[in-house]
Amino acid sequence: MVIYNCVYEKIVEHACRDMPLEACGYLGGRDGAAVEVYHLTNMDKSGEHFSFDPKEQFDAVLAMRKKQQQAIAVYHSHPETPASPSQEDIRLAFDPGMIYVIVSLAALRPDVRAFRIVKKEVSEEPLVVIDRPDNELENREMRWNGKNSL
Ligand SMILES: [Zn+2]
Repeated sequence: MVIYNCVYEKIVEHACRDMPLEACGYLGGRDGAAVEVYHLTNMDKSGEHFSFDPKEQFDAVLAMRKKQQQAIAVYHSHPETPASPSQEDIRLAFDPGMIYVIVSLAALRPDVRAFRIVKKEVSEEPLVVIDRPDNELENREMRWNGKNSL
């Protein structure tokens, strides 16, 4: 999955801010890239598991729809354990189309990894961090200027 660097930074920030509890939320995607973060409240108020606030979850999905984004990933943090799905994470991963992003703060540097979990089978999904492109208009102008300079 491609992820904008600002999105990557925001989920690490969220994970740090909610320490020692697990932080959680959605990543809104466009064309397979994670472009926006939707912070949600961890109703469990736990450092070992999370569950979304259903009202916030509903609002986030609506907001994504309005912006022509899809909920392509669920992210959550592991304050004290590595960035791999726990038994609980695997048990609760029902959506084979979803990417599960885990931010681990167990080591000195945050470790962010993504996974698909299909019928309890975990496979790691490569994360490609890219700079957020400027809006399309600016891109078009850059291309235009490029042509002019030839
Ligand atoms: Zn977990």
